[in-house]
Amino acid sequence: MTRFDITPLARAVLAVKDLIRRAACEVHGAHAVEVPVDGLRALTRTELDDPLAGIRAAVLARYAASAEIRAYAEQARGVGRAWDEIAKALGLDQTQFDDPRAELAFRLVAENRPLPFRESFERLDAWWRCGSCGQRIRDHDPFEANPADNEIGHAATCRRHAAEVAASRLWEEAR
Ligand SMILES: [Zn+2]
Repeated sequence: MTRFDITPLARAVLAVKDLIRRAACEVHGAHAVEVPVDGLRALTRTELDDPLAGIRAAVLARYAASAEIRAYAEQARGVGRAWDEIAKALGLDQTQFDDPRAELAFRLVAENRPLPFRESFERLDAWWRCGSCGQRIRDHDPFEANPADNEIGHAATCRRHAAEVAASRLWEEAR
């Protein structure tokens, strides 16, 4: 699939991601790098050499997006749109909530309060590929002192994981 036969929605998402990556480079000093896509020869994906710069740029985009949501919601109210219509535009699905979605839209936009998601919607762990052993890692509960208890999936020979486990043992012994 090339960039030319994707849907307008997917193209818009790519454009926003491109902007975030550009801000990470221009504002936060990162550089774009091409990395091979798993299992697909001759296909690369653009990533940043500094993922933390990506987070900073994405947070900036989130603030900008929140400000735009508020501004457009106020404009919508100005031209006579109901909070329920604004809720629909926000993508709030009434079946997911106990409270009327118009109320939730108001709280979200005007009062900046998070949505009361039900527990089943929460995701409690993060997934990433280890740069050392190449395995997919399930990462949960970073408050656990020993990384052996909160990172699942490293290869038995993984150097990074072995080093982290050894470091946490030293830290435990020093206490
Ligand atoms: Zn590993």
